[in-house]
Amino acid sequence: MFKIVSIPGDGIGPEVVASAIRVIDALAEKHGLEFSIEEHLFGGASYDAHGEMLTDETLDACKNCDAVLLGAVGGPKWENLSHDKKPEAALLKLRKELGLFANLRPAKVYDALVDASSLKPEILSGTDFMVIRELTGGIYFGQPRGYDETRGWNTMVYERYEVERIARLAFDAAMKRKKRLVSIDKANVLECSQFWRNIVHEVHGDYPEVELLDMYVDNAAMQIVRDPKQFDVIVTKNLFGDILSDISGMITGSLGMLPSASIGTSHALYEPIHGSAPDIAGRNKANPIATVASVAMMFEHTFCMKNIADEIYAAIEKTLAGGLRTADIANPEDRAVSTTEITDAIVSNLKAS
Ligand code: NAD
Repeated sequence: MFKIVSIPGDGIGPEVVASAIRVIDALAEKHGLEFSIEEHLFGGASYDAHGEMLTDETLDACKNCDAVLLGAVGGPKWENLSHDKKPEAALLKLRKELGLFANLRPAKVYDALVDASSLKPEILSGTDFMVIRELTGGIYFGQPRGYDETRGWNTMVYERYEVERIARLAFDAAMKRKKRLVSIDKANVLECSQFWRNIVHEVHGDYPEVELLDMYVDNAAMQIVRDPKQFDVIVTKNLFGDILSDISGMITGSLGMLPSASIGTSHALYEPIHGSAPDIAGRNKANPIATVASVAMMFEHTFCMKNIADEIYAAIEKTLAGGLRTADIANPEDRAVSTTEITDAIVSNLKAS
């Protein structure tokens, strides 16, 4: 029995999480698997009910399950709260409490949407790589930090154990894919990057089957848009990953399509990368594919059932190939379908596969 905590959150969160849960239910029935899915409040919904964005009860539940499925949090209603009370602060606290040190974002192009990208179809078609970003170290957290009238300063610092564990996770991911890892740094300028590079090479000793390539971050930004097909797995530090994962995601299409996983030693959280989309919330218009694909990542990384993850991706692909599009990915001449309609199609394609 796998224990999932679902935290739908705010805005379109409950709509897209409901779609994802229908997919999990369909898979449970099809494969004879048992899941316990417990729903908890988080974000604005929790603030309205309990006066805090993240209660101890929700946090405890997240610490005592196999995987967390999160929709999205925030919205105009809670925008004017003080910084420490905002949904973003609760999200950072949740990630920190769960010790989620790696963020995984796939950049996968669905054939049916190859024309939706800003890149030419022949450059993009067949792109399928994973960006692994270190999430809890580096310049976003290093001390000292601050600014005064005359100076501003931050510190980029990595501990050996932080680089070792993210490198190991990246090599493990590469072993399950095409066994090619690109480590992105700025070792020609930053000592901290040279340190990163040395340790990644040390860890490589345990993974002789994986081909390892170092790439400077400026070159990597160019290569991702020049020839994205060359990549299989990318690993990089927090700052560079923040930027490169957005570039990598967006070359493949809309926000509504992009899943993510945040992984720690003993916890994992899966969520679409988009926000709560207040402009379309409650109108059955949201694209649930990012959240459904986040479930695919959950099956692959937490439940170690890559075959089922592939079934989910195939059902999404088939649904898109059948011409169904929510408004965010529809061409002007298409009739856009609702969240419910596209979920119906994904579920029925899953059952039929
Ligand atoms: P957003 O991602 O919510 O929306 C940006 C645009 O993309 C909107 O036009 C929206 O309609 C569209 N969009 C997003 N997801 C979509 C989907 N699944 N289907 C169809 N269209 C989709 O970003 P925003 O407008 O900058 O932020 C809105 C709220 O979400 C803010 O309160 C922000 O703080 C919060 N937010 C939360 C998270 C999170 O929970 N991880 C991430 C980003 C933003």
